[in-house]
Amino acid sequence: MSLWRRPAQLPAALFVMAVTLGAGVTAQSTGKKAVGASASVSDDAEFARLMKEWTTRPEFSSPLVDHLPKVAGIPSPKDILGHHIGEPKKLTYYADILKYYRALAAATPRVKVTSIGKSNEGRDLVVVFVGGDESIRNLESYRKCLAQLADPRKITAAQAAEIVAKAKPIYHLSGGLHSGEVGPSEMLMELAYRVATEDSTLVRQIRDNVIVSITPVADPDGRDRNVDWYYKYGINETEGRATGAGVPYWGKYVFHDDNRDINYSQIEMRALLDWYLQWHPPIMHDLHQAQTLLYTFSGQAPQNPNLDPILFAELPMMANFEMAQLSKYGMPGVWTHGYVDMWSPGYLAFMSSNHNGMIRMYEIQGFSGANTQKMRLGNPNAAPAAGGRGGPSAASGQAPGPDAAAITAGRSNQAQREWFRPWPATGEFDWSLRNNTNYGETGVLTALQYTAAFPKVILENFYQKSRNSVDTGRKETVAGYLIPGGQRDATRVAVLVNMLRMQGIEVGRSTGEVKLKEGTFPAGSYVVKRDQPYARLAKILLEKQVFPADPNLRTYDDASWTMGLMSHTDVKEIADKAVLDVAVEPVAEVKLAGTVTGAGSTGAIPHYGSNNMVTLRFRLKDLKVQAAEKEFKQGDITFPAGSFIVSGDLAKVRSAIEALGLTAVALPAAPSVPMHDLDVPRVAMYSTWGNTQDVGWVRYAFDTFEIPFDLIYKDRVRQGNLKSAYDVIVIAHQSGGGKRLVFDIESRGTPIAYKKSEAFKYLGMYGESDDITGGMGIEGVAELDKFVKAGGVLVTLGAASFFPAEFGLTPKVDAARTSAQFYSPGAIIDAEILQPEHPIFYGYDKKLVPVRYANGPLLSVQTGANPFGDAPPAGPPPIPQGVLMRYPGGDDHVLSGLMRGANEIRNRPAIIDQTSGKGRVILFAGNPCYRWQNFGEFNMLFNTLLNYNDIKSEPQKPATTDNPAR
Ligand SMILES: [Zn+2]
Repeated sequence: MSLWRRPAQLPAALFVMAVTLGAGVTAQSTGKKAVGASASVSDDAEFARLMKEWTTRPEFSSPLVDHLPKVAGIPSPKDILGHHIGEPKKLTYYADILKYYRALAAATPRVKVTSIGKSNEGRDLVVVFVGGDESIRNLESYRKCLAQLADPRKITAAQAAEIVAKAKPIYHLSGGLHSGEVGPSEMLMELAYRVATEDSTLVRQIRDNVIVSITPVADPDGRDRNVDWYYKYGINETEGRATGAGVPYWGKYVFHDDNRDINYSQIEMRALLDWYLQWHPPIMHDLHQAQTLLYTFSGQAPQNPNLDPILFAELPMMANFEMAQLSKYGMPGVWTHGYVDMWSPGYLAFMSSNHNGMIRMYEIQGFSGANTQKMRLGNPNAAPAAGGRGGPSAASGQAPGPDAAAITAGRSNQAQREWFRPWPATGEFDWSLRNNTNYGETGVLTALQYTAAFPKVILENFYQKSRNSVDTGRKETVAGYLIPGGQRDATRVAVLVNMLRMQGIEVGRSTGEVKLKEGTFPAGSYVVKRDQPYARLAKILLEKQVFPADPNLRTYDDASWTMGLMSHTDVKEIADKAVLDVAVEPVAEVKLAGTVTGAGSTGAIPHYGSNNMVTLRFRLKDLKVQAAEKEFKQGDITFPAGSFIVSGDLAKVRSAIEALGLTAVALPAAPSVPMHDLDVPRVAMYSTWGNTQDVGWVRYAFDTFEIPFDLIYKDRVRQGNLKSAYDVIVIAHQSGGGKRLVFDIESRGTPIAYKKSEAFKYLGMYGESDDITGGMGIEGVAELDKFVKAGGVLVTLGAASFFPAEFGLTPKVDAARTSAQFYSPGAIIDAEILQPEHPIFYGYDKKLVPVRYANGPLLSVQTGANPFGDAPPAGPPPIPQGVLMRYPGGDDHVLSGLMRGANEIRNRPAIIDQTSGKGRVILFAGNPCYRWQNFGEFNMLFNTLLNYNDIKSEPQKPATTDNPAR
């Protein structure tokens, strides 16, 4: 096909034009040769021969990467790894990747490796700098230049111009965020070597004008596990004989969601954020692998309107430059637009756009291993493919996200020509790891070429965006945010403020009472003024998200994340410009010191909804702790139902209270209200092997709040006798319905083990199995049913709540699905608490609470009132027994984000408590432990654990109101 024929070889003159975009650079080279000042530089002939051999078609390469310098004394990747980058069936473990960069840094002054922290499993996290000798020698002064441009309040416009004149942009590249996307972490080694050694005009210009920084592998724990899995299983895969399962874990807790970790819970992501706030690279570029053949992000709609207009113009400009250059080199299948939108600020590289820089992203064609595989691209005239966002790759074995099936936004048949994909790849061909390297490296070199051509423009824009952000507080309606002092639960306020601080947002604590048009607030209120460099980010995180009205617009991830709603803390949006002049003391970090007052031998700890209450219980596991079942007063303190009453070692209580930032009152005697013991539960969390990520988020929360649990899989469930080992079994949200949960990864006859061995030491972490296929099966279902009937408490979250309904553990509960028209990517909506006295709601003081909608089942409970189809009585239906909370539904109850078809969930149960034998099943239609976000809901789950054997539900009752007004 003619599409595959590229211009035989680019005319040299054309190529020279390409590399001399920058002012004042004379072309001396076609870029194909490593013509160096030093006599010891030559082209690596073996590399040229092998890369050509590994590249499956000539058009899958470019003049930028078809050669590699050989320099005496400076190791190429092959000198350390033993093979060139892109060799079929070769993937590099993280330790070897680090070994390479360190060897390179030891050999040339143009490379420097810095440590930025440790991963969950203790691997070194690094950033590698590559640039001209002078740049690397003076890194610290370049860092300071960018820091100055990042805070325009401290410099004049004239000073900014001087700084721009002497500064250089840092261009940050990151690979390996998603462990199954293996290619970019290989490619970056060759890129670093090339940028450090090649003497072409193109590379010299990059070296002179840009400082390249590299995260070699953003999730190194996952990298090693995925490489192990590849060598154990993937390497033997041939066409038609796939293993049938992906590696069950990447990082310790999450898979793809490390790119949705909006609050930087994962240690690796936080380390990069900390580094970012020190170095301020104006561009952060994440290299992924999902699209055909290279998709370059341009920030398409829906766009977050808080971000600077300059950014929305910069993004397509760079993406289009890459598309034009790669097309010129004869590389098909490069496209932009039409895939990821710019709504959610939670993607990792978004940290740069959030801080006035630029997020960039590639999706490069690739596989989770290093085998060359056949690709069959569709008919160019076919209708757009269904399905949606990139989400997990099939090879990972992970389920697509909860709303993937519903999303078709922007993604069309990738073999189809579109205005944003003028030259699609089509037909059938082999795709190799080296092809992936060629596309990725050519793209990145082109992005660096652009940056090297316009370094001053990029720096000016960075400064201007920062300055515009500082101006927003005076120019725009929203001047700031105020978090009133004196909120009932100080711990969630502290978490919220510290998260803002972690992102570099300035927060002050008011020194006196604050009087604004919006009200009067006590001294000690937290104030976020919008005349600061990260004013835009503050608004993005704290405001209510209003999704564009266009009914055709969908979004790649969540539509809402409003921090006050997610954490059930009071955050006021302030229009009164006087907020900018409120006297405050800057807050570095909120450190709550808990207090114990009063005198006596009984400790009383009011339950105000702090998530630290569950931690307290486990820290005091050897003491008798009771829950007051009714509110009581002591002096002027009101202790709500659920407050802890502790007797015994009060010194121990005091130290726990102080460390956890809680308050306690020592009483002379226990209060005279009904109480029950908070017995310490033995907890298990059930996980399938095919879908560990959403379980991972709940594990992360349990680990963080020090809730001990066993992580159990199908083998343990089938073994039975669950009640003898556990009091509570939690099944976290796992996408798909009950069948998926029960049957999990289909067995293809050959067992697939996930076990540690001498050869594969990173497998078998967080659980082991001789065969991860087959699921718990019906035998497992029977054992869970026995567990409940014997007195156990089974808790299902989100989509896992299909399971008890569909498999008969709760015969009266039905689970349905929303219609195809319904669309709600994580809206925050109202939920109505129907039984406020129920222990699940200890610590909640309002009847309507904001919850994140999780696309879980539409639950209903048969009331038995109308078995023969008689006309139902007039008026609202009764509330069936065991419905503890429900969704009022309707547009009025959407608090942030987007829910199309909000009537479909009207009055649907949000939490159901069903007894079965001696035990019970608690079904959450939502996910009270979503990522690291909805802190306000965590307590419903924690209360369930702590009160597991003291739960009683009220009988069926008539509805009092059909749809409560807010
Ligand atoms: Zn990815």
